[in-house]
Amino acid sequence: MKDFTKHPCFNKGAHHTNARVHLPVAPQCNVKCNYCNRKFDCVNESRPGVTSNVLQPEQALEYVKNLKNIMPELTVVGIAGPGDPFANAEKTMKTLRLVKEEFPDMLLCVSTNGLNVGPYIDELKELDVSHVTVTLNSFRPETLEKIYGWVRYDKRGYFGKSAGEVLLEKQVAAIKKMKSLDMVVKVNSIVIPGVNDNEIEEVAEKIAEMGVDLMNTIPLFPVKDTPFEDLTEPSSEWMKALRQKVETYLPPMSHCARCRADAAGLLGKDSAEAAQLLSEAAKL
Ligand code: SF4
Ligand code: SF4
Repeated sequence: MKDFTKHPCFNKGAHHTNARVHLPVAPQCNVKCNYCNRKFDCVNESRPGVTSNVLQPEQALEYVKNLKNIMPELTVVGIAGPGDPFANAEKTMKTLRLVKEEFPDMLLCVSTNGLNVGPYIDELKELDVSHVTVTLNSFRPETLEKIYGWVRYDKRGYFGKSAGEVLLEKQVAAIKKMKSLDMVVKVNSIVIPGVNDNEIEEVAEKIAEMGVDLMNTIPLFPVKDTPFEDLTEPSSEWMKALRQKVETYLPPMSHCARCRADAAGLLGKDSAEAAQLLSEAAKL
């Protein structure tokens, strides 16, 4: 029987006792976030770092089996990149299916920019994927055009304001559908000074109206060779004050560890043995 309280990201009480693993099966991306350098992992849910190994679904299953042997506290399997899970939908869905068959009690989680998750929500629900994170940075297309270089949807490229419009439309529709199916939804917002930092409260208010369960405000990590490389990372005091504002609308996540797309272990305490198992799985 699944115990939904054992998700360390959604339940602070579980983050010292329950571990999660990210399976890096999704290398492609369908948007260009201006805070991201694709030489690294997806920044929406991950800290920039060395590029992850990328696994095929079968390799990912072997990895989870081996990991569970050394990490009995593993309760969550998530897919968070290193690109977007639904720009690699076939691999993502196959991996989730394999893990569910082998570990029916494992909590399943995905983290996406929300652009292309829509057609897969019913199947995610059937697979009992209980927790979904959508990165949504603004409700204003004129702001989104500063954050996204381009968006690729249905084999068409979108730029400028229309990129923001198509992304936002799909994100909102996806979140509403997930909530209508009673899935637990977290929204991540990257706080970008001078770009969307004045809109975070507006995002909190609107997503709370949509029934979103939790909001994770992530300070911009200025990455080299990106349009935002010269911006300053918001201070922890500033982020704390922002979370207090968010709290008037919906619960803020205060223990985010900015996990990598191949993170494994307790939040903030990634396991070195897991990294070894991951690189072995990539050679299978
Ligand atoms: Fe990078 Fe993730 Fe944005 Fe894709 S969705 S561009 S991988 S931060
Ligand atoms: Fe899910 Fe994000 Fe937590 Fe990973 S870090 S398990 S994707 S909520």
